[in-house]
Amino acid sequence: MARSRYAGSRMFHLVTRTWNPITGCLHGCVYCWSRRLVETRLRWITRKYRHGFKPAFHEEELSELFKPGEFVFVSDMGDMFGDWVPEEWIMRVLDVVRRFPKTTFLFLTKNPRRYHVLKGTLCLYRNAIFGATIETDIDDLYAGHRISGATTPSERIQCMRSLGALRKMVSIEPVIEFSNPKTFAERVAEIEPEFVYVGYDNYNNKLPEPPLSKTLELIDTLRSHGIEVYEKTIRKAWWEQ
Ligand code: SF4
Repeated sequence: MARSRYAGSRMFHLVTRTWNPITGCLHGCVYCWSRRLVETRLRWITRKYRHGFKPAFHEEELSELFKPGEFVFVSDMGDMFGDWVPEEWIMRVLDVVRRFPKTTFLFLTKNPRRYHVLKGTLCLYRNAIFGATIETDIDDLYAGHRISGATTPSERIQCMRSLGALRKMVSIEPVIEFSNPKTFAERVAEIEPEFVYVGYDNYNNKLPEPPLSKTLELIDTLRSHGIEVYEKTIRKAWWEQ
């Protein structure tokens, strides 16, 4: 199917570079590609990852310089808004973000409750987009399959909705079986994201995936709400093939 413009891309196509001042994550998602990468290849070739995927702060990264127009994905090798991350680390990263107002910084978490706590500060950052991964809207399915130790999708949706005027995005990747296209799209639309990425798992994790027809309907319904949707790996569910 030749529908997906970004099919097969593992990174968000808007991103021009990544920056990892905070790494590691304790959510334990079964499909985590960064943990796999860190615990295998990167651990042995980069001193930065010598402690594996344990949360770590990399002070030396704070001296990085960014150009106007760059689109920087911050901490793609972890979740820098996990509950375990000291607020001081987050604030020091945000200090750097403030110094480069013409660069766009993208954050992505499975713990947007932390955004909610910090929203009085975060709303000052107009060059930052605060994203949440919301792979489904079915809490039971998510917990029942032990997909991740992160907060439930419902809580993530609720926290993202409550962020008011912050710049926001949603990543529905890897997409997991969801209630129905209309309901899930409405819940995402209530978040008022600038854009949404949708994509299937790239790593053959045999997740409980929705059928392709349902995902395509979700994408169309999101667009009917006026949301910019970027398609990543869009394919049949593994069990349909
Ligand atoms: S939240 Fe992201 S970094 Fe953390 S375990 Fe899950 S996929 Fe990996």
